Amino acid sequence: MSQERKLANSTTAVHAGTEGERTHHTLAPSIAQTATYTFENTGALERYMRGEDPDPEREEYGRYGNPTVRELERRVAALEGAEDGVAFSSGMAAMTTAILATVKTGEHVVLFRDCYRRIRQLVTSVLPRFGIEHSVVPPGDLAGFESALKANTRLVVAESPTNPLLDCVDLARLSAITKARGRARVCVDSTMATPINSRPLDYGVDLVVHSATKFLAGHNDVLGGVAVGPSHIVSLLRDSRSVFGSVLDPHAAFLIIRGLKTLAVRVDRHNQTALAVARALEKHPLVARVHYPLLESHPSHAVARSQMRGGGGIVSFVVKGGRAGASRMVDGCRLAKIAASFGGLETLIEQPAIMSYFELSDEQLATIGIDPALVRLSVGIEETDDVLRDILGALG
Ligand code: PLP
Repeated sequence: MSQERKLANSTTAVHAGTEGERTHHTLAPSIAQTATYTFENTGALERYMRGEDPDPEREEYGRYGNPTVRELERRVAALEGAEDGVAFSSGMAAMTTAILATVKTGEHVVLFRDCYRRIRQLVTSVLPRFGIEHSVVPPGDLAGFESALKANTRLVVAESPTNPLLDCVDLARLSAITKARGRARVCVDSTMATPINSRPLDYGVDLVVHSATKFLAGHNDVLGGVAVGPSHIVSLLRDSRSVFGSVLDPHAAFLIIRGLKTLAVRVDRHNQTALAVARALEKHPLVARVHYPLLESHPSHAVARSQMRGGGGIVSFVVKGGRAGASRMVDGCRLAKIAASFGGLETLIEQPAIMSYFELSDEQLATIGIDPALVRLSVGIEETDDVLRDILGALG
């Protein structure tokens, strides 16, 4: 891995985790589609159980490990500059396991309010049932964050950039404040950034989690999650995964590996198109506000410039004309499809007030900073001009 670190991330995306000849000399990884593994005889089994098998990668049962999944874990770890990684059946499975593996009854978690809503739900509704306390901090409020830290805080959960308002937290300051105040670990959901645009471990973060469903896989055809960090933390998650059963299927791992090989070129295109769309929307008379971290008008602009290589593939914006005006704009798109999720080849569009946050009133939406006329756009890898024409044409 030390040699891989010297390579550019676009090269690592193609080659990481593939040193040595594969079985049958295949270039592409095989899909080890098996639920279990055989032992030649009881002596071989006992050797394995004593930890003396000559193959350190040998597995006993599919819930404990799989070679195709292992290759994915190595690849994402290499891209993030991490010692090790562990893959899961979804991004939520990764985050649930990361939290439950590192926090116990009587301890405290600090969460930024603009984290993905299911992660917020996990921390604020599920953890209290197990006697785990939490504090929720407003986005970007590092002073509020510092005062929320307690003697029993063991985990800090942040997302950068956030979905859908693209707020970026200063990762170096977040890590420094946490370390200075005690022994909590910092876990960052870096799904929106991808390791091409930002590597949180370089800023002192302890654990990075991805919904691999999004940019890592990139094709809107598979669910998965990955967590990477130092081996001693990753092994806690791996042990918990064996108990929770939140494993990734080997075929899904193969698809995510295939997607990863083009991650860097896809993200470059996403960055380029999203910035062009954000700049064009900012000048449009029917758009009230645009959220994109590389726009000078975004509150996180300086932080984003300092820790991100590109702004990523998501742009959100408030359409003039309220909830109905935004729905008309969304309906006017031809290329962009209405769908949840983001980070894939296809341009997707959604109005959070009638999708992810459908059950919330306008007053409740206001408390989490979501305007009913907010539109979230995930630009695909289509030609930038075609995406621009579609979005600007739909605005009228
Ligand atoms: N993190 C972020 C930022 C997300 O947007 C999502 C899903 O939308 C998740 C995590 C959860 O990932 P998954 O859908 O793969 O469980």
